[in-house]
Amino acid sequence: MPGMFIDVEVDAAVAADPAMAKRLTEVCPVNIFKQAPGGRLELVEANLDECTLCDLCVQAAPRGTVRIAKRYQ
Ligand code: SF4
Repeated sequence: MPGMFIDVEVDAAVAADPAMAKRLTEVCPVNIFKQAPGGRLELVEANLDECTLCDLCVQAAPRGTVRIAKRYQ
């Protein structure tokens, strides 16, 4: 389920890559990403609306594989 104001989409190949999951978990200042046992990426949905739109996750991943969607105008 997306956040009320923010939705974060991550391509399946990035989510399945433990190294990318670790990097995204490290860069996000508000802990929207975490690693599941085994290393795969999970989103912490309760934190989605804390997103500051800092773009660090977008810059840390291959172009276009992480997308931040604003659900408001
Ligand atoms: S834009 Fe910043 S705050 Fe939002 S999910 Fe990405 S790293 Fe986290």
